Parts: sequence; structure tokens; C-alpha cells
Amino acid sequence: MDIIATLRESIGADAVHGPDEADFPRHRRDFLNETPAGVALLGVAYPRDTAQVSAILKACNAAGIAVQPQGGMTGLAGGGVPHMPCLVLSLERMRAILEVDPDASTMTVEAGVVLETVQKAADDAGFLFPLDLGGRGSAQIGGNASTNAGGNRVLRYGMMRDLILGVEAVLADGTVMRSLNKMVKNNAGYDLKHLFIGSEGTLGIITRLVLRLFPKPRSIATALVALDDYPAVLELLRRAKHGFGATLSAFEVMWPDFYRLGTTALGRQAPLPHGHGVYVLIETMGTDEDADRARFEEVLGQIAEDGIARDAVIAQSDTQTQALWAIRDCPGEFPKIFWPQISFDVSLPTGEIGDRVPELRERLERRWPGVRTVFFGHVADSNLHLSVRLDMDPMPVHAIDDLVYSAIGEWGGSISAEHGIGTVKREFLHHSRTAEELALMRLLKTTLDPNGILNPGKVI
Ligand code: ZN
Repeated sequence: MDIIATLRESIGADAVHGPDEADFPRHRRDFLNETPAGVALLGVAYPRDTAQVSAILKACNAAGIAVQPQGGMTGLAGGGVPHMPCLVLSLERMRAILEVDPDASTMTVEAGVVLETVQKAADDAGFLFPLDLGGRGSAQIGGNASTNAGGNRVLRYGMMRDLILGVEAVLADGTVMRSLNKMVKNNAGYDLKHLFIGSEGTLGIITRLVLRLFPKPRSIATALVALDDYPAVLELLRRAKHGFGATLSAFEVMWPDFYRLGTTALGRQAPLPHGHGVYVLIETMGTDEDADRARFEEVLGQIAEDGIARDAVIAQSDTQTQALWAIRDCPGEFPKIFWPQISFDVSLPTGEIGDRVPELRERLERRWPGVRTVFFGHVADSNLHLSVRLDMDPMPVHAIDDLVYSAIGEWGGSISAEHGIGTVKREFLHHSRTAEELALMRLLKTTLDPNGILNPGKVI
């Protein structure tokens, strides 16, 4: 019996689509990457619960069939995109919110719940679930966990890894690892959930999660600040950390080329004039509207008085707040003004980013005169983003990747800050990991998935 027939018998005909009926196009691409032409999918399984995920993996493991786990397909590194003939396992029917525990400040969910639904459920219960990113309307929480998603509020709340207390995952042979811990303190041996968080479904498939919830902020203050150079950015960050303490929730740095794209190039009026060395979007989230506002203005006023900031604008309304964030969020509009382009998501120690930006730009310009680069990033958490555009058809993507990742490796940085490895960065992983680290990763992979069925061709 073929695998589709076997699975239909065990979990029901409606839960398994064969090669003819499956809605394949949406299972063949994420935000940027596509399954290579000619690679055939065997079918798509849509399990309704953990027991069905276990049955699917058990059958595929016995038959040596590759399994491609998928969430909302909003990734940027190809982690969910099939690269060889396989069965797709979509978690989209597992979308129950199982419990909100107000005393533990936790929410227990199935892996297929959409991020925005989690945020809304937390809000309805009087809490904040702080993970936020552009794909919130379709990204699934299990995908956020398996890729260890980041975003704009990592500075204050951490990465997805820091927002998870418990995980239930299914191993390659169908074994269910239930570790739905709700306690902040739990040192009883190895913390196994971290095997599954950030490993992109190569070591097991996450089926349920216990998420951490936080108090809902009652006040938000936002400002855009213009400065001369990167040393001034570092001084601004020091002052903001000391002045705002734990309420500092975003510190987004934009270099001038990026600022021009986010404002004038999109037909928007620039809230601060062009010509400054660098621009920073600062945000605080607090619990006391009046006191937080006064503190925000006082700290920024002192920063201006001391000559660190050259100019600043503080948002006076929700509309102005959204207008400032729209500048930072402009990569979503790049297809209109800066396309095609190659985007990079790398990490370097915060203090070194200022010198590395012109160095990297110069290396790219020396190799490809006329290349255009825009730099921006969360920076306070060491994350730098870079978009590169070259008037060549096709763009030499691999050579550009190689130049950037080699430089990041040479400088001791990470080739992936928050987007993961997937297929896109796999061959460059050695720039950020030692031979010993790679060997241990391979040992974990072969131990947990000896037949290599889980998301083959990804990460390691
Ligand atoms: Zn980012």
C-alpha cells in the first residue's frame, strides 16, 4: 500500500490529500523561496491532533519517507519549503487555544494557531503576548517557535525562545515528548524544549506550546531621533537604557539610504529632514500614562541639550505613532521601490556595527560598482538588516551572499539573527559555527532522526 493510502486508513481520507487533489502551490513557497521545479510532492496531511501527527511520523519513518512540516509559510529562509519529494505535514488544522492560566500568566495553544489570534486572545484575557512581526496575520505559533522568531520587541521581551515555558513535540519515530511545563523555575535535568525551538522541525515537530504572557502596557511613547553618527547612537542607547529602564521596548536604527526609501521614495513627507548621519526610532511601554510621558520628554530633552541628538520628533497621536513606524516597516513596500533585492539578517556585537556598515558597503561597491545597499536594524539586540540591489539580470545572488556571509564570519558575527538557516544559509553555516559545533549538531540530528525523514536538506 502506498503512503497516502496507509495514512488515509489510519487518520481519515479527508485529512490526507494525494498528489492530484492537494492544493500544492501554497505548500511550495514561503515569502521568498520556492520548491525547485520538477520536485514532486507525494501529498499533504492535515492532522487534527497530536495523536495523528504521531501516526503520520510513525508511518513515514517506517517507510523512509521525508516529511516537510509547515506552518503559515511566512518564513524568509526556506525552512518550510520542500526541496525533495516528500509528504507535507501542515499544522493548520491544529488551531485550538487550550487554556489561559491567569495565575501562571500562561497560555497553552496548539501549534497551528495564527500569531495574531494568540495576540488577540492574550489581549482579551487582559495580557500581552509580545512577539510581533510583519507576518502576524498568517504566521503560525508553531512556526514562530520552530524558527525562534524575533521582531521589534526582542530588546525588552526576548526572542520566541524566551517566551516559551513548555513544549509538546513528536519525534521522527512518532514518540510524543510531552513537556507542557508552566513553571518559570524548573531545573529538573536537561531543558529538552530547546531541542525543538529554533531547530526548524529537523529534530521533532512541535504540536503544543505553553506561552508566557505579560502585563498589558497602558502607555506607549514613540519618537524619531536624528544623530550625527554611530557613536552618538551608542550614547543614545546608553542614556535610553538608564533613563527608561525596563520600559524601553524598541530601538530601531535606520541609515540615511533606508530613511530616504521609507519616506521620500514612497511619497511620504519625511518627519525629520534628510542629511543627518543616522535616524533612530525609540519606543517605551509603561503603566502610567502621565508619568511615562513626562519621563520620556525629560530624558529626550536632556539628550538633545547635551548635543547627542541633532533633531527629534515625539509622536503626539496614534496616527503619528503609526506614521513613524511605517518608515521602519517600509521593507514590506520594497517591491514598489527597491526590487528585486537580496535581504540579509545578521548579527554583530552592538558596539561594532557602526564601523562594519561602511566597511561592508565598501567591499560590495569595490566588487560591484553601482551596487545599492540599505542598512537598518534592531541593533540594541545586535541585529542588523541589509538589503542589496544590483542592476544586473540575474543578480549574482550566490556571490553576494558569499561576500556578505564571509565578512560576517570574519568579524565573529552570526549569519542569522532571527530568520533561521533553512536552505538559503545552510552552506554558509560554517561561517558562524565551529567544526565542533557542527559535529554536535549532526550527532543530535542522526540520534533523534536516524532515517533523516524530518525536514531533510535544512539547517545542517
Ligand atoms: Zn528584523
